[in-house]
Amino acid sequence: MRAVLYSGLARSTIKILSRAGTAWLESPRLAQIPWLIHAFSTRRGGISAAPCAGLNLGLTESDRRERVEENRQRFFRALGAKNFTVPALRQIHSSHSFVVGRDGDGRLSYQLPGAGSIAAAAEKPPAGDGLMTAEPGILLNIRVADCLPLLLVDTRRRVVAAVHAGWRGALARIIEKSVGDMRRAFGSDPGKLLAAVGPSIRACCYEVGQEVVEAFHGSFAKAKSFFLPLRTRPEAATDRHSILFLSAYPPGHAPEHLPAARLDLAVVARHQLVTAGLKPANILIADYCTACRTDLFFSHRREGPATGRQAAVIGIVDTRKRRG
Ligand SMILES: [Zn+2]
Repeated sequence: MRAVLYSGLARSTIKILSRAGTAWLESPRLAQIPWLIHAFSTRRGGISAAPCAGLNLGLTESDRRERVEENRQRFFRALGAKNFTVPALRQIHSSHSFVVGRDGDGRLSYQLPGAGSIAAAAEKPPAGDGLMTAEPGILLNIRVADCLPLLLVDTRRRVVAAVHAGWRGALARIIEKSVGDMRRAFGSDPGKLLAAVGPSIRACCYEVGQEVVEAFHGSFAKAKSFFLPLRTRPEAATDRHSILFLSAYPPGHAPEHLPAARLDLAVVARHQLVTAGLKPANILIADYCTACRTDLFFSHRREGPATGRQAAVIGIVDTRKRRG
């Protein structure tokens, strides 16, 4: 099924790497770029305890701040990025991305690429779902637990971006917009960009309600290709109780939690990247479903809201001095 969904794509043979007990995924194609650091974390490593056992990289109510901080340090050290500055971002399922830079005093600045102008973020940490930078020594960091993490690289202009896309952000076209933001802020040519799509919940596990199906069909002419039908449950058709339950609602008013189809966020991501001008051969997809692989990843859908968060990170190595 997966091979059919992703036919015509360059499928990344994403690699799992491990150092000092901490494991992460990298794209061999991106790993060839000498000035780049990138990774999709797994839950292997770290000191967090259940229900977010392992390398939890998100501040959650179910974990202690000092554990998350220790996990972050271990992860960044394993990547050789311990001296990088990590920008903050309050993720809100939007379509906004910020350009991260440094002000005259070397402090991080966050700017919103607007039409023709760039406005500074009013809040700290800024609320949005994408970060991009051309500045060395900054490690962009997106946290997810089923949502789709995306990394973008412009090798010509040395610009990198990290994007967080759940169904709401994908519906708001955050992926397509991020490519446009890179073009606007840095003059990036979409035809030359590389994209790495990290592990997320996939169609095998991501049942969504009718309101989600309808929202995508209202916004995307190709929405049909984003969904698979629910798996058939022959017993349900003959289950008198479920029929009684369903018929208790007037037509078209079934409760929202009833699944209507299965959504594949990776297909939505690929569609938006191609629409934005990327070449399919430059789109690398990590073929992992977070809900299928809770041995490797945290999954909100499979494990509930108390689970941890993995991270996608990307940064430009400062070649002027050695970074540890
Ligand atoms: Zn799955």
